[in-house]
Amino acid sequence: MTLRSDPQKLLRQVIARFVAEEVAPVARELDQAGRFPRELFQKLAAMNAYRIRYPRGKGGAGGNTTLYCIMCEELAKGMLSLAAIAAKQCLMATNFLFRFGSPELKEKYFEPAMRGEMIGSFCLTEPEAGGDLGAVTTTATRDGDHWIISGMKTWITNAPVADFFTVLCQTDPEKGIRGLNFFFVPRDTPGVRVSPRFELLGTRTTEIAEVAFNDCRIPADHLLGKPGKGLGALLSILAEIRAMTAALALGLAKAAYETAFQYAQERQAFGRPIGKYQLIQAKIASLATEIYAAELMLYDTTAKIDAGQRAGRESMMVKYFATELACRAADEATRILGAYGYSMEYPAQRYFRDARFLLYGGGTHEVLLQNIARELRL
Ligand SMILES: Cc1cc2nc3c(=O)[nH]c(=O)nc-3n(C[C@H](O)[C@H](O)[C@H](O)COP(=O)(O)OP(=O)(O)OC[C@H]3O[C@@H](n4cnc5c(N)ncnc54)[C@H](O)[C@@H]3O)c2cc1C
Repeated sequence: MTLRSDPQKLLRQVIARFVAEEVAPVARELDQAGRFPRELFQKLAAMNAYRIRYPRGKGGAGGNTTLYCIMCEELAKGMLSLAAIAAKQCLMATNFLFRFGSPELKEKYFEPAMRGEMIGSFCLTEPEAGGDLGAVTTTATRDGDHWIISGMKTWITNAPVADFFTVLCQTDPEKGIRGLNFFFVPRDTPGVRVSPRFELLGTRTTEIAEVAFNDCRIPADHLLGKPGKGLGALLSILAEIRAMTAALALGLAKAAYETAFQYAQERQAFGRPIGKYQLIQAKIASLATEIYAAELMLYDTTAKIDAGQRAGRESMMVKYFATELACRAADEATRILGAYGYSMEYPAQRYFRDARFLLYGGGTHEVLLQNIARELRL
């Protein structure tokens, strides 16, 4: 298994040290304050974190999906919301700009984004279009040398702090999903309006809001990709988005497991550590088993992606499996910690709240299971 090659081990160690020294000491305070972790975001940029999956010589660090997922997993052990913010900056927020942006656009936005000086957002969801992207109604209309963008996006991660948006728009409603295209919209474009941030159950340092585009006029070269190929461009990174979400889930599951394991060794009840009771042992042993399974599934999927093989089915399976595991591990941790699992002083409650974040992006589980069944030709 490629999981144990040297660059992978080294990356794991570097990120684990960063989490132990820089993230763990402030995670609780940042979560309670519910503010964007700008300092940590910039420290990650200084480590070239956002360049990880882009090629060398083109502003990247020459890594691959496996290394990207290792980084996401290790960050998620310390603080899921920071990991999610970093993961988005590496992939969805900058990918189409990198692939399709003009040299001028890349110099003005991609490089600063890699340096952590600018933040990007990815805008698919609308008030009436979630998993069903065929229902997107935000329009882009050609007007001479410009496009006019009009519509409303919602649940946009990082929107309150974003400097630019990658926006999925409909250019030809008669063509349905073949009329979908991505557009690059700078924050300072007249007509862009970001709502106040949403109050969230978990991942409270991620800032999420609605973004309205009111007749926003952008130059013609801000169309990212060939006309009519927006959905294809999205599909080309979908397996990686799902693998990344699974990596975040695996990191959170490991953090919850380790908290529960340690507590089971320390806490005494009826004269013995609670970890000596079979019911607690069964919970911990089954979590350890599923974590092992999720890890194998994840890095088998990323190896396929890195080898240029199809990994659609595998990425859906691991996104589903690892996220359900993260939710269960966080739930079990709050139970094994007894009353302390309910206390804001211990991290178990944060894992419990944060795990829910993973349920939506990359496909809700109802839709994923339906798609897996279709892949199985049921
Ligand atoms: C924390 C967070 C961050 C987010 N960040 C972003 C972001 O940065 N950018 C962005 O564009 N979006 C973002 N989203 C939105 C996210 O992508 C959507 O929530 C997701 O696509 C699901 O859409 P929806 O919530 O509208 O649910 P819907 O698609 O309306 O689904 C509602 C329910 O119906 C079920 N359902 C739907 N279709 C079927 C079916 N065919 N069969 C069975 N059940 C079905 C779903 O599983 C779900 O349970 C974020 C959401 C959250 C919670």
